[in-house]
Amino acid sequence: MDIKDHIRQIPDFPKPGINFYDISTLLAHPDAWQVSMGRLAKKVAAWQPDVLAGIESRGFLVAAPLALKLGMGFVMVRKPNKLPGDVKSHTYDLEYGSDTVEIQADAVQPGQRVVICDDLLATGGTALAAINLFREAGAEVVGVASIIELSFLEGRKRLDVPFDALITYD
Ligand code: IMP
Repeated sequence: MDIKDHIRQIPDFPKPGINFYDISTLLAHPDAWQVSMGRLAKKVAAWQPDVLAGIESRGFLVAAPLALKLGMGFVMVRKPNKLPGDVKSHTYDLEYGSDTVEIQADAVQPGQRVVICDDLLATGGTALAAINLFREAGAEVVGVASIIELSFLEGRKRLDVPFDALITYD
């Protein structure tokens, strides 16, 4: 099965000139979604993680089913002020301004092996922020996985951990 057949491209979203890769059509197709999660689970399992993290919000849709499949816990990486209790934060620079990602303070234990999941890797900035957040929390990031990689943006070059995606657009 070619997973690309189930990805919809929407021109000029969210801004003119941006081509948005939409996984809604993949999520809505039970067979294609099942195959996708099966293939990605094999890649992720090879890194032997202890826990899977998903980046808000579409990363949750990837990490949660993979964590269930692989029999491990799932951690939410969220935008600021969404998580209750003590949190750890990492703020990073954007082209204009900055952004922050957070996890709950007890989400990972020092030395735990974490794989970070998202729907799509573009410039790699979001994944890099999550890597730094988990490192600051004392965890070891052993890989980053996504459904889609936009390889022309060379995001994987910014990551100093293994990266794998189900499908690539170049
Ligand atoms: P990056 O930080 O530039 O790698 O952008 C990746 C983040 O933006 C991920 O969290 C994606 O969910 C989101 N993103 C960027 N472009 C798209 C797209 O075309 N489709 C879906 N998500 C996207």
